[in-house]
Amino acid sequence: PKKKPSPITIANDQLLDGLLVSAFDEASCLTTNCKYLVWTASNGLGNRMITLAAAFLYAILTDRVLLVKFGIDMFALFCEPFPDSSWLLPRNFPYWKHHKHIETYENMLMNSKKNRSKGLLPQFLILNLQHTHDGHNNFFHCDQSQALLQKVPVLILSSDQYFVPSLFMIPSFTQELSKMFPKKDTVFHHLGRYLFHPSNQAWELISRFYEEHLSKENEKIGLQIRVYNTHRASHETIINETLACTLQHKLLPDIGVPKTAAESHLKKQASKAVLVASLYSEYGEKLRTMYKANTTVTGEVINVYQPSHEGRQKSNNDTHNIKAWTEIYLLSLCDALITSPKSTFGYVAHSLGGLKPWILERAYGETIPNPPCRRSKSMEPCFHYPPKYDCMANNTVDFTSLFHHMKHCEDVSNGLRLV
Ligand code: GDP
Repeated sequence: PKKKPSPITIANDQLLDGLLVSAFDEASCLTTNCKYLVWTASNGLGNRMITLAAAFLYAILTDRVLLVKFGIDMFALFCEPFPDSSWLLPRNFPYWKHHKHIETYENMLMNSKKNRSKGLLPQFLILNLQHTHDGHNNFFHCDQSQALLQKVPVLILSSDQYFVPSLFMIPSFTQELSKMFPKKDTVFHHLGRYLFHPSNQAWELISRFYEEHLSKENEKIGLQIRVYNTHRASHETIINETLACTLQHKLLPDIGVPKTAAESHLKKQASKAVLVASLYSEYGEKLRTMYKANTTVTGEVINVYQPSHEGRQKSNNDTHNIKAWTEIYLLSLCDALITSPKSTFGYVAHSLGGLKPWILERAYGETIPNPPCRRSKSMEPCFHYPPKYDCMANNTVDFTSLFHHMKHCEDVSNGLRLV
């Protein structure tokens, strides 16, 4: 009679007698039951990183595999975060065949009654959570919507918002979220540090800059100066505002008298580094000149560095994005940060660094706002356009009155921040 194969023989047989590596098993094949969340890019790098972190959390909560649709300007930024697999949307993913005819979540909501009664739900759905200025309600934070979304195998997410506070509003996620984040203001800090590891190319730039300029400094102060509209306030006003903030909170010393030639060459004094991130060279130049020409009242030497000044935001440009990522990462290594209002670039830097920044007030004309900046209550990014609709009560609500761990943002009065 034929001998029964031993377990070892079976294992050997499955692995084609050693041709396949032992980690290869059924579970490593895609199974048709998997559900996916496909992240797509919107806006600048800061916006992309906050939505990617939010998407990751949403994928975890809904048992979906997170895939990312990266363009040429994103490929060189990050390492693959998940061992033994790739988060890149594969070329053979069915999405590519259907992408021109995919239904939207909005349409599905409108037709939901009709469709559900016929049991018709799409295989793919575009979930648009982009910001809107018209107070438009997308009901994403309602349990009923989640019950519907849960039935769709592939969600294509399009968003530029940190919609994590919405996830905390959804009753069916509450328990898991409270287990995952006993401290609510650490959500991005943990998710971001899990997901975003600089690629070798970015790490080379980060570590070289850090070693050359920052590593030996007693203290590192980061200034992130994002100017959306150069006509609203001059560079001069914003520099003076930033300086007023640094002085008021004792982040940098005031200048004293002009330096003598001998003082300019003194080396062995306590020193602080100022890392300036801005599209404009004026900021680094003005501060560098000021601290080079004058002594400081504390006797400290202030060294000012600005890694780049790109002039403007450039889309679809990989080198530009690597510079942005390098600066975000370097800012996150500082001891204290001053950031610009409503800037997601600044949010990523302070959240990754586990820092509560001083956020500049919006300046108009020549007037320096008083106070020039306010300390953020939290390390979390701000959700700029959160919902205002109470799904249970069917009326408008201020969610800070329902959740003690949500507060309005210092820089965006209607926004919400987890604290
Ligand atoms: P936000 O517009 O401030 O919310 O930030 P985003 O990161 O979403 O978009 C701004 C984009 O402009 C960045 O991604 C960069 O491409 C560019 N940018 C803005 N500020 C800086 C800066 O300080 N340094 C560099 N290198 N790029 C910047």
